[in-house]
Amino acid sequence: MKTAGSPQITSLPDLLAIAWKIEADAVERYTVLADQMEVHNNTELAAVFRDLARAEGLHRDEIARQAGDIDVAQHAAKVAKWKKGDSPEEVDMSSAHYKMTPWHALQMALAGEKRALAYFEEVVATTKDPKIKEMAEEFVEEEAEHVNLCHRLLRRYPAPSGEAWKDDPDPAVGQE
Ligand code: ZN
Repeated sequence: MKTAGSPQITSLPDLLAIAWKIEADAVERYTVLADQMEVHNNTELAAVFRDLARAEGLHRDEIARQAGDIDVAQHAAKVAKWKKGDSPEEVDMSSAHYKMTPWHALQMALAGEKRALAYFEEVVATTKDPKIKEMAEEFVEEEAEHVNLCHRLLRRYPAPSGEAWKDDPDPAVGQE
């Protein structure tokens, strides 16, 4: 994957800040997706997404701890800049509408995880700093697990047949 617009890592704090941002955005994404699945009374997927939000949240906080004195949020605001459309967090949440099926929710989750994975893989492939490489490899491992989890879930929630989901005659209430 060519990611010319992704932020360049020149130090370990850069990597930590960017990883922190990716995790923080994942927490937000999974929270939105869990809410959506609750609207659909899909308690299984809602629980899966809540678990993922919690796991990414723990990882985000762990990264902040690893960064020590560095304010990762502040540093992220400086270095975690993607070219529009290339950012792992820029999964289009506007399509998280009330007719979203489990399959759609999982596609969004998968897209976010894949972009995060591709980003860390790129860091591993391009950095010359062994410390950055070692840490990025850990992130690759974690994101690869999340990608696999999404794929496993997608086997249980295949794409809705036809386009019938678009014409839901009885939309869930309480959504704008
Ligand atoms: Zn992840």
